[in-house]
Amino acid sequence: MTLKEIKAGQSACVISVGGSGALRQHFLDMGIIPGTDIKVIKYAPMGDPVEICLHGYELTLRLEDADKIEVESIPDRINKNTKSSSYFSEHLGLGEGGRFHPKGSGDPLPDDTTLTFALVGNQNSGKTTLFNQLTGSKQHVGNFPGVTVDRKDGAILGRPNTIVTDLPGIYSMSPYSSEELVSRNFVLNEKPKGIIDIVDVTNIERNMYLTMQLLELGVPTVVALNMMDEMTGNGGSVDINAMEAMLGVPVVPISASKNQGVQELIDHAIHIAKYQEKPERQDFCDENDHNGAVHRCLHAVIHLIEDHAKSADLPVRFAACKAIEGDQIIIEQLNLDENEKETLEHITLQMEKERELDRSAAIADMRFSFITKVCETCVKKPKENREHTRSHKIDKILTGKFTAIPVFIVVMALVFFLTFNVIGAGLQNLLAMGIDALTGLVDKGLTSAGVNKVLHGLIIDGIFEGVGSVLSFLPIIVTMFLFLSLLEDSGYIARVAFVMDKLLRKLGLSGRSIVPLLIGFGCTVPAVMATRTLPSERDRKMTILLTPFMSCTAKLPIYAFFVDAFFKNYKALIMIGLYLLSIIIGILIAFLYKKTMFKGEAVPFVMELPNYRLPSVKNTLQLLWEKSKDFLHRAFSVILVATIIVWFLQSFNFRFNLVDDSQESILATIAGLIAPIFKPVGLGDWRIVTSLISGFMAKESVVSVLEVLYGSEGGVTAAMSYISALSLLVFSLLYTPCVAAIASIRRELGHKWAFYVVFLQCAIAWVAALIVHLIGLLIGVV
Ligand code: GDP
Ligand code: MG
Repeated sequence: MTLKEIKAGQSACVISVGGSGALRQHFLDMGIIPGTDIKVIKYAPMGDPVEICLHGYELTLRLEDADKIEVESIPDRINKNTKSSSYFSEHLGLGEGGRFHPKGSGDPLPDDTTLTFALVGNQNSGKTTLFNQLTGSKQHVGNFPGVTVDRKDGAILGRPNTIVTDLPGIYSMSPYSSEELVSRNFVLNEKPKGIIDIVDVTNIERNMYLTMQLLELGVPTVVALNMMDEMTGNGGSVDINAMEAMLGVPVVPISASKNQGVQELIDHAIHIAKYQEKPERQDFCDENDHNGAVHRCLHAVIHLIEDHAKSADLPVRFAACKAIEGDQIIIEQLNLDENEKETLEHITLQMEKERELDRSAAIADMRFSFITKVCETCVKKPKENREHTRSHKIDKILTGKFTAIPVFIVVMALVFFLTFNVIGAGLQNLLAMGIDALTGLVDKGLTSAGVNKVLHGLIIDGIFEGVGSVLSFLPIIVTMFLFLSLLEDSGYIARVAFVMDKLLRKLGLSGRSIVPLLIGFGCTVPAVMATRTLPSERDRKMTILLTPFMSCTAKLPIYAFFVDAFFKNYKALIMIGLYLLSIIIGILIAFLYKKTMFKGEAVPFVMELPNYRLPSVKNTLQLLWEKSKDFLHRAFSVILVATIIVWFLQSFNFRFNLVDDSQESILATIAGLIAPIFKPVGLGDWRIVTSLISGFMAKESVVSVLEVLYGSEGGVTAAMSYISALSLLVFSLLYTPCVAAIASIRRELGHKWAFYVVFLQCAIAWVAALIVHLIGLLIGVV
């Protein structure tokens, strides 16, 4: 039978792991190895994915993936796996008993060498928290070359000539998503002087799996055992000295969020990097395990490829493991000749035969056996992890069969209410008042100084008006991100992904996409920015392309105006209809993407549900600051230029004279030229086209521009028919997002995709408006 058939609460033992390539390697890296006991914890409310427990940690899998894991049912064996037999009387506090790695004989690096460190660890192990502690606020945020994955660099506080880089979270050195490849390539190619390996001690078996592979690299490494506060708080402890002896690198217990042990960690890190002290031990294969099958195989391969690894500039033990596992990227780099390849294959086959496990499983099992030994010797696990128990209790409700979705709806509604009605809106009003006051002041000043009319217009109507209207987004974005980062940090977003995965997979997305998509109903800008939390590049791209279909709040004034003026009796019907229309079109487009552009393999959904934790204030503030900075930066570059261009087109005629009648402006002329395109959809008036163009700056301005051009509110209603009002509603619902949103999309996906979104949305809007118009004509609405 397969894992899929095991009921919640029951256990099973893995017999074989199916699947192929990266996915299978990923299963093995996560500890799903033949012989492992797995307990099924729960199924998501919609029946998929499933959460399982193995090696003392928890993971979620999709049923489709669980179906690839062959198991046999074992009702009562799981308890044997918890290692409560080994106890340590001695209790080590933070940093106690830590010792410097014995000094190497080599000379220290010269004083002016910049010590570069890579901060490597699993997701949720506390990398970002530690990074913020290490660097304070002096950090540089950017992207890794070629991919939109956050890259943060910063100097260690008070330690000149140091750079720490916060890498994306990885579970192993077998790349499985583009983010993991980023981390692996950073460590392999950029050759940091030291690695700070951050290990979540409450989840030590899984976290150490990466540690084992890092040690193989032969780069000076220090292990930071994070979350020590939770461990000791629950009565657990770690024998740091014993662990150092077993691993051959300094181990420092820390609590990143409480800033404990961090100074000691810095001392060790700088020491090992300065003296280039490589890990003392890399040989983790046991020569007695199964007659030393894996051990002999590994060492044979090490000798076989030694020269190749050297010329390819790869750490030899790492390269040997990868070569045995069949990692094509590494095998290619090694550049083995045919004979050597054959020898490699023979050695590996022999090992598989003796070990009775396939190559990848055998290597993974070798690592986990060593980890088990380390944990049995050095770690006294708390009998009960309070945070874990508490998380399970909270999960009963937040991921419960009948409660999960209602709770999710309430949480999102609350976030929206607070952002758009209470906090964000309040701040927005304040800011708008401030901007108005400043504009008034500058206006007066310019007038009294007798400044040239054109310059005056540029400053007041162009720059102040334009950037002011965009700046007024800022409070909404900041508030939205405040709530988002609280939800993300607390661990709730991972649950949302777990609950929603089944639904979103039908569209070719994964569970996490639901959050950016929902935020899109508020404002596309933070929605696009929120896609940063999506672990896969493919999902991120697709989600970004779908956010414009979520009608943002800035369009509400347009709906309100026209529904009020034309469809008073059908208010609710039209409003609901509009939202439904864009969602339905969005879903259709998603299906289309799934079948065409994004056909590639859906990224497997192996993730963990971290314990619920109180988010750290410092992290949250730092994130808010980054997001605001990012947005302000954009407001003053792309958006400023765009507003000035529109102001110019609006204020001048083709002879570059300032116009008094807006009908003569360049914009009006252009709008007049475009207007015929809008004739078939019933919007062929240059004034309507002008208002739509100005809507590209900010959707709120569509109505006000219409009013100005038609002279009054009554003028607009008098000039338009029911059917053209309906067309206009549908068109504004779907056409291009505003310039701020496009600027965000450009930042995430580049120019090409930004243009693509503008054109695609306009085209879809046009077609939809045409259909509405034609239907309207057919059934005789006028
Ligand atoms: P990353 O995914 O590796 O960057 O992890 P984060 O830095 O985002 O941390 C994940 C979660 O663990 C956050 O909620 C942190 O507040 C929390 N956290 C980080 N370090 C500690 C720690 O030392 N003790 C405790 N109790 N929580 C921590
Ligand atoms: Mg992080």
